[in-house]
Amino acid sequence: MNRHPTRLDYTVPQRGMLVSAQECCFFLSAASGSGGLVSRRYPTRVERAGGYLPPGPRRSSPVQDVYTCRMEGNMEDQKYPLRVLSLGAGVQSTTLLRMIIHGELPPVDHAIFSDTGWEPQAVYQHLEVLKKECEDAGIPLHIVSNGNIRDDALNPDKRFASMPVHLRNGKGDAILRRQCTAEYKIKPLIAKQRELAGLKPGQRCKEHRITTIIGISWDEMQRMKPPAFSWIVNEYPLVDNYIKRHDCIRWNEEHGYPPPPRSSCIGCPYHNNHEWRAVRDDPDAWADAIDFDNQLRSGRLGDLLAPSEAFLHSQRVPLAEADLRTEEDKGQGNLFDMECEGMCGI
Ligand code: SF4
Repeated sequence: MNRHPTRLDYTVPQRGMLVSAQECCFFLSAASGSGGLVSRRYPTRVERAGGYLPPGPRRSSPVQDVYTCRMEGNMEDQKYPLRVLSLGAGVQSTTLLRMIIHGELPPVDHAIFSDTGWEPQAVYQHLEVLKKECEDAGIPLHIVSNGNIRDDALNPDKRFASMPVHLRNGKGDAILRRQCTAEYKIKPLIAKQRELAGLKPGQRCKEHRITTIIGISWDEMQRMKPPAFSWIVNEYPLVDNYIKRHDCIRWNEEHGYPPPPRSSCIGCPYHNNHEWRAVRDDPDAWADAIDFDNQLRSGRLGDLLAPSEAFLHSQRVPLAEADLRTEEDKGQGNLFDMECEGMCGI
């Protein structure tokens, strides 16, 4: 067993097999439905194994056997893998952090927030709250950045890491290839994880050094991705525990927290009308987004993207003129499935 199993792809462990603590916890979690039960930091031996864990939602998939496991080695000597929460300061990752603080999920060693520099004020205010919660819980929170996505896009001296803007030209409609998530979210996150893992930039490593805890919910599981490096293992506790986005909001309410904001760039072209209307509710953010949208069709970006015309809104009209009735009002779906690859908005 050399990779992390998921609900859709797993291997039943055999008696005596040495598995990673993460895999062990997966099986324990799946078998008992009670979340991580043992330290996820240390190699663990399966003491009793067998049976079958059917895929599918827990309620409709009764467990047919339970595994017991024993941790191996001197735990004090083992430094890696570190458990790192990718904190987007949105609904899902905030809920993960709070579940961890409440002891409902295994602890993490660090939390990392990748700042694109263009989040709404509500997110930065929420981040201040999370900083305090991390501090009280003894979780180091690192805020990392690879620049300001908005300013860099408009700066002729900077490479344009393309955003998924909506294009129109004589040949039809298209969406520009997205590079912004990799550049402004993933790159600084990986750089910080490298540092925490004791690796130099570019250094290769096959040892599992970091487990990245990612806040993708059960209803967005198609956004899960394999990690980019062999020293990273991704873990998705909300998917593992069948927790959907609305469950996260309810969990916060039940625990006395106000609903967390949705985290994404003010001018993210993936916004649906509900999100654009939330941007419009903040006059400064709305003016900012309209200004950026206008600059997509003039100056540096206009030249770069010519002969296409680019728009932030999927209607491919200037943002100030877009019809912001909800998709439901108009009987359309939304662009949620096209959101960032497990990093933005969580
Ligand atoms: S939120 Fe949107 S604009 Fe911002 S990095 Fe993600 S995809 Fe790009």
